[in-house]
Amino acid sequence: MELLAGLFGLVFGSFLNVCIYRLPVGKSIVWPPSHCPICGKKLKWHDLIPVLSFVLLRGQCRFCKSRISIMYPVVEILSAAGAYLSFKVFGLTLEAVLLYLFYMVLLYIGAVDVRTKEISTISIILLGILKIGFVAVQTLSEGKHMSISGMVFVLSGGILNSAFVALIWLLSKGKAMGFGDVLLLIAGGFGFDWKEMVVCNLLSFAVGALWSVVYLIKHGCGKSSFKSEIPFAPFICFALFITTIWGKWLADLYINLVWRG
Ligand SMILES: [Zn+2]
Repeated sequence: MELLAGLFGLVFGSFLNVCIYRLPVGKSIVWPPSHCPICGKKLKWHDLIPVLSFVLLRGQCRFCKSRISIMYPVVEILSAAGAYLSFKVFGLTLEAVLLYLFYMVLLYIGAVDVRTKEISTISIILLGILKIGFVAVQTLSEGKHMSISGMVFVLSGGILNSAFVALIWLLSKGKAMGFGDVLLLIAGGFGFDWKEMVVCNLLSFAVGALWSVVYLIKHGCGKSSFKSEIPFAPFICFALFITTIWGKWLADLYINLVWRG
């Protein structure tokens, strides 16, 4: 079942690519049909098979031979992986559907941040609604009720989750972290308990640091544009998704290792 979800994930990833490339510049996602952004030629149906077409065309346009961004197959593979994981962990449930939609918005935000260094407010709002929906369905399926105090806990989880990055944003006057990063941590962090907040923040900085090291090895040190070339949102998106699925488990694993080791 999760393999089938992964296959659907490839196709949805293909559609997400259209959104990633067109929505930020205000273009329609239904018209015109898919075309090469360089020569404008309409693509054939067999050029639109996720991942496979990219491999067969060796990453080039069939007509003008200009390079196709590696982002296309990467987004398709990530979409498939997210669908696979969501349905593997939660089975064929409403939780899995909401988790996958949440993941797709994260993927959209991360990819658009890489391309344009912007995070749109509407995508943040959508992310927050999906996260609250996911937490609500999860709570109800455990046989608990949604109370006012429960709702306060859900919302404060998001706000506290952003506290550390919000502090950096304030102290650096928006230079080290963007306000979009703060909003992303709030909307994606709804429902986190303190353990999940720690895991989420540690994970985003750890992966960000790791990526920076790889970047420095590849491009050499001393580049003044270093910071502006590495957007932080993709790391936050990654951490939010992993923490939403395995946050509590990762925290307990870490605590056990430290206390027993
Ligand atoms: Zn072309």
